[in-house]
This record gives sequence, C-alpha cells and structure tokens, in this order.
Amino acid sequence: MVIRALLIVCAAAVAAVWYAALPPRAAVASPADEAATVRGAIHVHTTRSDGTGSVDEVAAAAARAGLDFVVLTDHGDGTREPLRPQYRSGVLCIDAVEISTHGGHIVAIGLPKTQYLLGGEARDVLEDIARLGGMAIAAHPGSVKPGLQWVDWDVPVDGIEWLNADSEWRDESPWTLVRALLTYPVRPTESVAGLLDRPAGVLQRWDEALRTRNVVAVAAADAHARLGFRSLGEPYDNGASLHLPAYERVFRAFSNVLPEVVLSGDAAEDAALVIGAIRAGHLYSRIDAIGPAGTLDFRAVSGDVTASTGDLLSDHGRGAIAVELASAPQARIVLLKDGQEIASSGEPRLEYATETSAGVYRVEVSVPGGPGRPPVPWIVSNPIYVGRDVQPRTPPLPRPVSASESQYSNGDADRWTIETSPGSRAAIDVGKTTDGTNLALRYALGGSTSESAYAGFVMSSGPTLSRFDRVTLTANADRPMRLSVQLRVPEGQQGERWQRSVYLDDVPREITVYFDDTRAVGPTRTERPPLDAVDSILFVVDTLNTPLGGSGRIWIDDVKYAR
Ligand SMILES: [Zn+2]
Ligand SMILES: [Zn+2]
Repeated sequence: MVIRALLIVCAAAVAAVWYAALPPRAAVASPADEAATVRGAIHVHTTRSDGTGSVDEVAAAAARAGLDFVVLTDHGDGTREPLRPQYRSGVLCIDAVEISTHGGHIVAIGLPKTQYLLGGEARDVLEDIARLGGMAIAAHPGSVKPGLQWVDWDVPVDGIEWLNADSEWRDESPWTLVRALLTYPVRPTESVAGLLDRPAGVLQRWDEALRTRNVVAVAAADAHARLGFRSLGEPYDNGASLHLPAYERVFRAFSNVLPEVVLSGDAAEDAALVIGAIRAGHLYSRIDAIGPAGTLDFRAVSGDVTASTGDLLSDHGRGAIAVELASAPQARIVLLKDGQEIASSGEPRLEYATETSAGVYRVEVSVPGGPGRPPVPWIVSNPIYVGRDVQPRTPPLPRPVSASESQYSNGDADRWTIETSPGSRAAIDVGKTTDGTNLALRYALGGSTSESAYAGFVMSSGPTLSRFDRVTLTANADRPMRLSVQLRVPEGQQGERWQRSVYLDDVPREITVYFDDTRAVGPTRTERPPLDAVDSILFVVDTLNTPLGGSGRIWIDDVKYAR
C-alpha cells in the first residue's frame, strides 16, 4: 500500500518535472501572413545520401510545414545530374549538392552536372563552382565536431550558414538533449527550436568577412531525419537509426523568407527566381517556432534610391535606414553596423540616419522567452551595404617577372619520368607543334579504390629552382579536369610534397604556380616547401578529381621557372 502510494507520488513528480520542461507552445501563423511570403528550407538530405526521406516525402513534409520551396543538398561531388526543378506536393524542389573539401563542406546551389569530381582544397572547389556559375555556401561553420567545422576562412565563399540545425544540437548539455527527446512527442517543433542558440562565434566570423566582401547568410536545416544508435545520435551513422527529428519538425522550426519573390507556378522560372534571391541576399531567416508570424521590412534610402536586404546603396549622403516589423508585438529590433549594435527599438519600427556613415548594416530581432544561451534571434536579416562598392571576386594580381629560365620548350623528354599506382598507366610522347615540340601526357587510372589511383609525370627540378619563386607552363587537356602540380623533397619513403591544383580544358593557357602558394600534401616538416631541397616537380592526375577508370591526355609546353 505504502509502496503504491510512493510510486504514485514519484510518477506525479516525474510528470510535473516533464510538464515544467515542456517548451512554450509556438505561435501559429495566420494563413494570410503565410500566403504573403515565400519561405523555404535550405540544406536538406534525402535517401539519395544520408537522409531517411525520399524527395517526395521531404516535399510532403515541407508542404505540411507551410513552406514554398526546399533546396535539396545531398552529399556528392557534382557529377550527379541534378533533378529538374519541380513542384511536388505544391512545394518547389530545387536540387543542389553538398561537397566535401579539405576546408569543410560546401553547399553549391545552381551548379550544373560537372565533368569531373569536385573535391580537394576549398579554394579549388570554390574556383570550380564559380566557373560553373554556382553559389558556394560554407556549411555548418560552427559545428563543434572537428570533421564538420569550416576551417578555411580565407577563401571567398559566397555565403555562410549562420544557423545550422545539425550544429546546434551538438553543443547542448546531455540534460538539454534528454529533455528535448522527452518533450518531442508532445511539442516536437518547439523541442527542435529549444536546441537553438545565438551562434555568436559564427555571426562574428560573418561580420568579419563582410568587411571585405559581400557574404549571404542563410539558416540551414541540414535535415536528415536520422539519429544513429551506434554513434550516439550521429545522422551520418549508416546503421540502425531513429528517424528524428522528423523533416516536418525542422521545417516548422525555422525558415528562410524571400520577401521579394512572387512565384508563378512554373518550376524552372520559379527556381531561377529563388536561386537569384538567395544569391543576392534578398532573404532573412526567421525562427518560426519562437515568435508570432511576422515580416521584416528592412531598407536604406538615399534621395530617391532605396536598397533592401542584400543590396548596395552606393550613395550614403543624407541617407536613412528604416526597419519595420509587421505583426510582432514585444519584439526588440537591433540594428548592427559592421558587427556592432548601433541602435535598438522595442517598437515595431526603428529609424536611423546613416549620414556619412558608410558601413555594412544588418538587423537582428529578438522576442522575449526565446530558447538558447544566448537566446537565438527570432529574425536575422542579410546586410545592406551602404557606401561600399560590391567587391567582385577577382583572382590575385599576377606578380611581375624579372627573370626566367626555360625548363622545357623543345626536344626530348629526357628530364621526365613516370610514376603510377599499380593499376594505372601513363606515357609521355613528344609531339610536333608549329614551332617545335610539346609533351603529350597520357594517363589511365585503374586498379582498386584502395590503391588511391594516380598517374604522375615527373620532371627533375634541376639545380636552379631555388633561385625562382614560380613555375609557368602552357597546358591544355582533352577534357575539363584538374591537375595537381607538386614540388617534392626526397624524404623517407614517399617524399614530402606541396601542391597547387590547376584547372585545364581544351584551350591552351599559361598557368603559373607560385611556390609560396602551394600547400602541404599530408604531413610535412615545414609549412612551405624548402626550395633548395626540392628535387622534382610532379604533374599528377589522381582520383581526387578524376574518377577511377578515367583516362585522357594533357599537353604541356614552355615550362619555365621565373621570379
Ligand atoms: Zn555537411
Ligand atoms: Zn548536410
């Protein structure tokens, strides 16, 4: 009898704690508000990679969550043909890809099927994405999981995930995670939102990048609907898993709002509009689960010119910034300039005179009772660039040449040798050109995946390399590809190597590799190559960018050292 009473008391106590742990119920958007704004999820995995839902299931979940579009980003190397834009369950499905690089994962939007594998150093993958007309977004930059963190902050990404739902759960205490799992069955969306914080470090990195160039920020669902059992919740675990949190719950938790887009119903046309708006930064993110549905109107005006989120306002004399919120009681608007708070308002309207104050302005809006420490903002806008020219993505200027020394222009390939993995083949032929000869390098990558297939064309570097700072050559190939130019120091079994990957296609081009612009391949004792110890220059085709079974030809000529 006593035991039964005790059990009842215990059960009641547990229930009370559980009830107290429930996150507050999310406000429900009015249909009128929802109809007026185009919203969507960016960064979603399906069964084509490590997600648990098919494209149709993801689209249906997005439809239930009231979204208009989803950007699918299954892991890949760019060589999968993207799905045509399509409306499924009334939701515009835009296919994109998440590419792994040495610097972290990149979400590439608007990229066509590529002719070789994208991968390797982040700077090379970004160069490829830009050449192919895509947009590159640094994925989960703030992840506490080392393999997922973005580490290459020097490369000019077009965008950044200021929020990533997969990063957000990783920094929570076990208690918070257990609480989220226990409250999920009753308040699933709120439980997902309850794991969000304001990612101060990522926002600071974004503000720093904005000082020199335009960078778009998006909120990334990174939805897999998978929690691995073996790996304590890893979505990347391909063993048994819980299909949590459901896609719909992540889609209801937050979204990206495109205030200027009006959809026509034509999938191809609408996809172009949505991608164009994302690229231009004509978007803000909203944590739908924590605030009442409301819209942000953020603009800067100078004379008769008006700029809105993502835009440039080049003339800032006598300018003013206006921020207006529709249907958002109790919200606090904070206006930031170059990362610093410069004005705030508890009213649904804020005005600020920019006068002669050039800078990058952006808005964060918070609502009371938001989850997280520090609390996640309800709205994060993209910036308005006041009084600053758009910084085009330009390659670094070529350095002047004061001296050069030819290493190959005509004649035999007697300084050249070949190195390949066991199952691969390579050959060097001397070919005739109008003014002499060039070298034709043939390769065929074969063998098993474990062999890390490669074909290397090796030029002994000669005694003078250390007097120069670069190697130049003219090169083309029978197809678009990447070639790794490497400096090798004979050390140990494999040698120590530093490389710079270059792009080749059928147009002969002069290529310059600066020795101080090479990066170590694997562990090396020095960060930069010790030039007086280098004994060979390698031109390597390998499975980083060329598929196993791939074969082709490269022509090179006029190899020179210069300084
Ligand atoms: Zn990723
Ligand atoms: Zn992902």
